[in-house]
Amino acid sequence: MRNCSTIIGGTTWAAIGLVAAISWAYAAQAQTSADAKAMADKPADDPAVLMAPPGGKGVKSRGKSDKPGMEAFLLPVNYRNLDGSFNQEALVAQQKKRMEVVNDRLHVKLRLSETPHYLIFSDGDTGLTSQFAKWSEALYGNLCRTFTIDPKERVWDGKCVLILFASRARFEEFGKTFDDNNVKDAGAYFAWETYSPHDPQCVHICIPLDERSPRRLQELFAHEGTHAFFQLFRKAVDLPLWLHEGLAEYMTVVNDPSLAPMKSADARRIARASKPLGKFFDCCSGDDFKIDDYSVAYTMVDCLQQIGGAKFKQFVCLVKEGKPQNEAMQTVYGFDFNGLQTRWRAFLLADSAPVRRR
Ligand SMILES: [Zn+2]
Repeated sequence: MRNCSTIIGGTTWAAIGLVAAISWAYAAQAQTSADAKAMADKPADDPAVLMAPPGGKGVKSRGKSDKPGMEAFLLPVNYRNLDGSFNQEALVAQQKKRMEVVNDRLHVKLRLSETPHYLIFSDGDTGLTSQFAKWSEALYGNLCRTFTIDPKERVWDGKCVLILFASRARFEEFGKTFDDNNVKDAGAYFAWETYSPHDPQCVHICIPLDERSPRRLQELFAHEGTHAFFQLFRKAVDLPLWLHEGLAEYMTVVNDPSLAPMKSADARRIARASKPLGKFFDCCSGDDFKIDDYSVAYTMVDCLQQIGGAKFKQFVCLVKEGKPQNEAMQTVYGFDFNGLQTRWRAFLLADSAPVRRR
């Protein structure tokens, strides 16, 4: 059994993901090189698997643009309008061209579906593929509603390309061929296609459809889709690991509230034990993020979200602008990490009291 890049867990599928940061390179328009960072998943039943953060192990691939036939992975010549803005239609048209390149290289028959925010390339079952089309816009809508983001605000350039492979072998081959990354142990991943800060910011998600129930695939997509969204929201920079994973896990529960008890179980245990959180908030690229940490991250985000509507978005924006996260929290919420931990414990313990007072 394989899993989402974080916990798609619970009693039966308790699991942890690996977020293997991979770099991916496109040479954009000859003079601009780009990396892509991706977060990938790890097989579910390996409890020893730890997670590496986004941006952890950066691997740059160079020279992809030199490979014949890979032009569709470059920015199109007309990616800028005369007024300097990005030509979104040209970007989307270019992204669509990638599908045939993938089909040729991997000998697959991906088919295109399009939604307002996503391009879906899939060789999976038609019914399942249309479920993804539904889930993708539902997630986008949920993200905007949950974090008071104007749905008209552009998060990524072009569209988010979601690639669904019926075969796991093709998924792995895609990772190797197009993202220069070994995703053998990954359950899924998203890749941020970075050109330069002044160029378009694009993203893609890749998911194998092997042996997964639709419910689980939706959860996996919600997790990766949230990563993709928040990686690029406002400013395409990495977020602290707890925030990235906490948001991704939080949105899986927004999508499917029945996951809440299972996803918060480890955090409740830690809160009850008054276990110190150690370096939890400081985890970043290359650090270990254990299965318990996903649960803590999810419940921290839940706790902050329940405190107040637009505050969470303000906090994320300040962090993205480069403000130290403790200061950003103080500014927005009026307390720092110590204050958050106190509130988080109270929040979890109040909610999980085995015996209610009469
Ligand atoms: Zn993740």
